[in-house]
Amino acid sequence: MVYDVAVVGLGPAGVSALKVLEGSGLKVLAIESASSFPRKKPCAGGLTPKAYEILKEFFPEVDSVVRKRINRFILYNKESLAVLSYTTVLTYLTQREELDAFLFNSLNHSHFDIHLGETALTVEKDIDGVILNTTKDSYRVKVLLVASGVNSRIARQLGIKREIGFTYESYVENSREELIIDFTGFKWGYYWAFPKGDVVTTGIGEFKSKKVTASLREILSQFNRKHGLTGKETWSSGFPIPAGKSQNDVYRPHILFLGDAGGLVDPLTGEGIYYAVKSGTVAAGVVRQFFKTGELSRLSSYETAINSLFGEEFKWARIVGKLFFSLKGLNFFVLKRSKEVAQLTSELLSGRISYRESFKKYLRMMPGALLRR
Ligand SMILES: Cc1cc2nc3c(=O)[nH]c(=O)nc-3n(C[C@H](O)[C@H](O)[C@H](O)COP(=O)(O)OP(=O)(O)OC[C@H]3O[C@@H](n4cnc5c(N)ncnc54)[C@H](O)[C@@H]3O)c2cc1C
Repeated sequence: MVYDVAVVGLGPAGVSALKVLEGSGLKVLAIESASSFPRKKPCAGGLTPKAYEILKEFFPEVDSVVRKRINRFILYNKESLAVLSYTTVLTYLTQREELDAFLFNSLNHSHFDIHLGETALTVEKDIDGVILNTTKDSYRVKVLLVASGVNSRIARQLGIKREIGFTYESYVENSREELIIDFTGFKWGYYWAFPKGDVVTTGIGEFKSKKVTASLREILSQFNRKHGLTGKETWSSGFPIPAGKSQNDVYRPHILFLGDAGGLVDPLTGEGIYYAVKSGTVAAGVVRQFFKTGELSRLSSYETAINSLFGEEFKWARIVGKLFFSLKGLNFFVLKRSKEVAQLTSELLSGRISYRESFKKYLRMMPGALLRR
């Protein structure tokens, strides 16, 4: 079978690319290994305002899957506690399986050949494109969009450079309302508890860790007990997470890597939904241009676009991360003492200010905050 475009993986990245390809007149194949939606994807389901806004732009009904709007974070380091409050929403909370099912159902399915329950295995070079081999068939495609997440086989086959960290997540039946983030004991990561109404999604992520320790589950249980989240655990699992990289490696001839498959995750917070959606829409725009002009350089311009959109930001995220995690105790002390620093942290965590800008502002505020009585 021959296609103009194949999209592998129908999480936020793949579905967003398809949304932009709707009505393009291109012959598009979409392959997803899950056999139906909703399907499980380990994720806390938190949307920063910028993630919510881009989803709203392409999927206007997204409010139907927003379970909570949060404008207060409770942060911990050991027994020390800081409360961040903001005038507007800091995070929109969704359940990932509901969000992904909503995104998938928002597509106009008649525009694509959608194959659920089929897994992409490998790619080979073809004369003017690639051959995609799956568990069911082989397809000749001019452009392949790989959106198959952190475990992407094709990203591994083609040696896409990514840094992988680890997480462990659980669902606890509990109706607590607070969003909690606890940095105690992490080298570069945190514990989270995201309330969703009848359930709280809790998890731990050590984004720069090279290996999973068997005790992650026990560590998560200890945090859950510390924060009084002791209800029935209905689900738990470990899962890798790509945590940014120094250079975005997201292109091979005729193949574009989107979202987690391309390692596009904020290296400090682990936020990935925004980057999945943004890279999906950018990739699909590039693909439309390629079919209009026939110029191969349009496809390779994807990597340049991703670098200029995220390269600088990810670089500064690593700088801010280094400053924060290496001097965690001091930074927490400053955060508790200074309203300005607390406000700046709220703005940073909600994506309202860039890492670079916040770094500069923080250095200006720090002496005053330390000297304040
Ligand atoms: C525990 C945890 C918590 C997180 N919390 C947050 C959060 O609160 N907010 C946030 O913004 N980000 C969070 N992230 C990151 C976020 O989940 C990802 O960055 C995001 O899901 C990336 O979207 P994606 O579309 O690239 O990939 P995915 O969402 O992983 O989608 C990939 C799709 O491809 C399919 N697939 C995989 N392999 C194949 C194959 N070979 N063939 C066909 N289909 C395939 C999968 O079934 C899946 O549907 C979290 C990650 C983890 C692990």
